[in-house]
Amino acid sequence: MHEKIRTAYRPMACDLCGQIIHPGERYRAVRDEYSPVEYHEHIQCPGAPAVVVGEPPPKPPKIRTAFNHHAFCMA
Ligand SMILES: [Zn+2]
Repeated sequence: MHEKIRTAYRPMACDLCGQIIHPGERYRAVRDEYSPVEYHEHIQCPGAPAVVVGEPPPKPPKIRTAFNHHAFCMA
């Protein structure tokens, strides 16, 4: 995989969020050396955070309840 920062000279669609990368805007050009396909991504893509949403949220209340219960048994 090769990554290059380039400046758009024409409008192109971002491959992450699908929104337009405007002419004059800098974008990331990602190319797989084994395929001729090149991907264009915003430097700070607004669609990128949505990809990370799959992470499970932390559950501190449950842990705290278990800890309190344990402490109660110890007493
Ligand atoms: Zn984007």
